Amino acid sequence: MTTRLYTHPIFLEHLTPPGHPERPDRLRAIERVLDEEAFAALDRIQAPEGDEATILYAHPADFVARVRAAIPDEGIARIDADTTASPKSWQAAVTAIGAANAAVDDVFSRRADNVFVAARPPGHHAEKTTAMGFCLFNTAAIAARYAQKKHGVERVAIVDWDVHHGNGTQDIFWDDPSVLYCSTHQMPLYPGTGAKTETGAGNIVNAPLAPQTGSEVFRDAFLSRVLPALDNFAPDLIIISAGFDAHHRDPLAEINLTEDDFDWATGQLMQRAARHSGNRLVSLLEGGYDLQGLAFSVAAHVGRLMKG
Ligand SMILES: [Zn+2]
Repeated sequence: MTTRLYTHPIFLEHLTPPGHPERPDRLRAIERVLDEEAFAALDRIQAPEGDEATILYAHPADFVARVRAAIPDEGIARIDADTTASPKSWQAAVTAIGAANAAVDDVFSRRADNVFVAARPPGHHAEKTTAMGFCLFNTAAIAARYAQKKHGVERVAIVDWDVHHGNGTQDIFWDDPSVLYCSTHQMPLYPGTGAKTETGAGNIVNAPLAPQTGSEVFRDAFLSRVLPALDNFAPDLIIISAGFDAHHRDPLAEINLTEDDFDWATGQLMQRAARHSGNRLVSLLEGGYDLQGLAFSVAAHVGRLMKG
């Protein structure tokens, strides 16, 4: 397997207020662990400049203009109670989109079998017209539509194992059966959506998990809901909204996974990518707020992507 890694120094310059869990140190912890010898074979690429026009694949122009207007010249501006922007946040968000779209190009051109994008800000809470939950634009949704427009594929699946429900991704694809959205997440928890009864056009599969759920129940949700939906849908591309805040060390939730569970889930999705998608798998960092839990989990995830 050729596994590509996209990073960029601009992702460290999206600043959040002191004490905010979504902080630049998250990426430093990831960079440190991926510097280890075990990851020497990673194909490391600096993320390209993003194309702002692709934001419109998932968000209307007036919303994009509103986010741009909220970027401060100095200091940190609040967009909502927990979502903020600093002077470089626009460039960071657009570069994250550029990296995700380039990752899509890579798996279709066979420059890589799979790709991990270590970027911030995250994206899965950003709805069509609302930036929220630390997210400005929905990077995964934009990348899915980019694959459809640029590479002419019909069906894209987004699998979201972040501990929070990806309300934004669900909102964007609510009535679009060309994109399957599958999510495992803690419920009740922020943002409050993600019940099993939320099914969109039959293309939304939510697998809510009760607080204190561990490995067994998580894997059962994957085996009984997520994987059958993927087999039924037969996607041309699988995108992972890879949040690692369901790790037992994470301070924002009460799900008790270990890095072994992320290794396992990655392997399961690689099997489905082999079966349906010509191995094409693009993984985008979302949450994960305990630096050690995040680093161990990313190491397990990327290690599995490399090994196959
Ligand atoms: Zn999360």
